[in-house]
Amino acid sequence: MQTPLKIAVVGSGLVGSLLAIYLKRAGHTVHVYDRSPDIRTIKFSGRSINLAMSHRGWRALDEVGLGDEIRQIAIPMDKRAIHIVGEPLAFQYYGKDGESIYSLSRGLLNRKMVTLAEAEGVEFFFETKIWDVTLADATLHAGETERGEWSELKYDKVFGADGAFSRVRHRMQRQSMFNYSQEFLNTGYKELNIPANEDGTHKLDKNSLHIWPRNDFMLIALPNLDGSFTCTLFMPFEGENSFEALKDKESLENFFATYFPSTIDVIPDLVADFFKNPTSTLVTMKCYPWTYNDKVALIGDACHAIVPFYGHGMNAGFEDITILNQLMEQCGDDWDTIFKEYEISRKPNADAIAELSYRNFMEMSSKTADAKFLLQKKIEKWFSAKHPDKWLPLYSRVTFSYRPYSEALAIGDQQKAIMDEIMQIDGIEEKWNSPQVEQKIIELLD
Ligand SMILES: Cc1cc2nc3c(=O)[nH]c(=O)nc-3n(C[C@H](O)[C@H](O)[C@H](O)COP(=O)(O)OP(=O)(O)OC[C@H]3O[C@@H](n4cnc5c(N)ncnc54)[C@H](O)[C@@H]3O)c2cc1C
Repeated sequence: MQTPLKIAVVGSGLVGSLLAIYLKRAGHTVHVYDRSPDIRTIKFSGRSINLAMSHRGWRALDEVGLGDEIRQIAIPMDKRAIHIVGEPLAFQYYGKDGESIYSLSRGLLNRKMVTLAEAEGVEFFFETKIWDVTLADATLHAGETERGEWSELKYDKVFGADGAFSRVRHRMQRQSMFNYSQEFLNTGYKELNIPANEDGTHKLDKNSLHIWPRNDFMLIALPNLDGSFTCTLFMPFEGENSFEALKDKESLENFFATYFPSTIDVIPDLVADFFKNPTSTLVTMKCYPWTYNDKVALIGDACHAIVPFYGHGMNAGFEDITILNQLMEQCGDDWDTIFKEYEISRKPNADAIAELSYRNFMEMSSKTADAKFLLQKKIEKWFSAKHPDKWLPLYSRVTFSYRPYSEALAIGDQQKAIMDEIMQIDGIEEKWNSPQVEQKIIELLD
C-alpha cells in the first residue's frame, strides 16, 4: 500500500476514468477534471461511435473486477466479414477457438466507467477546463476562458489523460529536451449508420467486423447492442475517390452504387447522414518524456495518439494503466522510479503499436481482398496450429496476447520475411500444407 496522496487526473475519458479507479484502490484521494459535461447527462442520438476491445483492455478491466460488468454491454466479433462486389461474403476468423475482439459503444462504456469510479469514491469535476499546469509542484490552473481568471488547484501528483491535444502535454512541450511529433493522414473518416431491423435484430451478421475493402478507401461496420451497426468510411480527403469528390447527392449515390452496392438497402439515411456528419481527421502523435520528475505523468492518447486501424488506441491506454499499477505495487512510495520505469517501458511499445496501426490500413483496405495474402494467412494459421511454440501470427500476438507491442512488431517483420520466401515456392497454392512447406518454415525460423 502506498502513502495516501492527493492526485488529480485531467480527463474523464476511458483512460482517465479507469486510471482514477486504480489510483483510488491504491488508497489515494482522486479528483478527475473534464472540460465537457458529465457524459451521463448527454443524450446520445441513438447511435454511438464504437470501439473494439481486446485482451489488453480486458486485462486492465478484469484486474479491478470490472470486466464482467462491461462484458454485458459488449458484442464478440470472432471474424472479419469481407464484402467484395460480385462475390459472396467471405469470413476470415481472427484467431483460434472463437477468439474474439469485442464491439463496445464508446459512450456507454465511458458512462459506466464514470459511474463505477464514483462508486469507488473518485470525485469528478465536469465542465472544468484545465488551461495549464505548473509542473514543478503539480498545480492545475482552471478557468472559464483561456484569458479569463484561473483558480489554482494544488495536488501531490497530476496525470494528464486529456487526449491527443492534451493541455498538460502542451506545458511539457515547452521544456527543453521534450520531443514531439504530430502527423495527420491524408485519409479522413466519416460515420454512417445501418439501423436495426424492425424487430430489433441486426441486418448483417452481428458477430463480425464487416469490411468493404477498396484499396485507397474502405467502409467498415461494427455491431451495436440495439441491432444497429456503426459504419465508418475511411477515404482520402482529396483525389479521384475522395471526400472532396463527393460533393452532392448524385455523386454520393453513384459512388455507393459503384463501390458499395450491397449497402444500398441497409444504409437508408446515407445522403442525410453523409452531409450532416463531420469528416474527421486521423493523427499519430508521439512525444517523450512522458513524465516530469515525480509530479506529472501523461497517459493514454495524451502521450501516444495512433490511427485506429489496429483498434488499439484505448487498449494501449488501458495497458499503460496495467503497467503503471504493477510499478506502483513493486515500488511503493518511490514515485521517481515508478514514473521513470513507466515511461521507459511504455514508450517503445507505444511507438510499435503506432507503426503497426499505420501499416494495418493497407491490410484492411486491400490485402483482405487479395487471394495471395489470404493464402499466406492460411499457411500461417496451419503452421501455428501444428507448432504453437514456434509461430504466433502477428495479429494474435497484438490482439490476443499480452506480449509487448515492440516484440510483436519485431517478430512480425521476421515472419513476414519468412512468408515472402514461402510464397515464392512453385505451386504453393497446391502444396501450402505439405511437409515440404512445413520443413522450409522450420528451416527459415532456425
Ligand atoms: C475512428 C476511431 C476509431 C477507434 N477505434 C478504436 C478501437 O476499435 N479500439 C481501441 O482500442 N481504440 C480505438 N480508438 C482509439 C480510442 O478512441 C482512443 O485511444 C481513446 O479514446 C483514448 O482515450 P483517452 O482517455 O486517452 O482520451 P480521450 O478519449 O480523448 O479523453 C480525453 C478527455 O479529456 C478531456 N479533456 C481534454 N482536454 C481537457 C482540458 N484542457 N481540461 C479538462 N478536460 C480535458 C476531454 O473532454 C475527454 O473527456 C479509435 C479512435 C478513433 C478516432
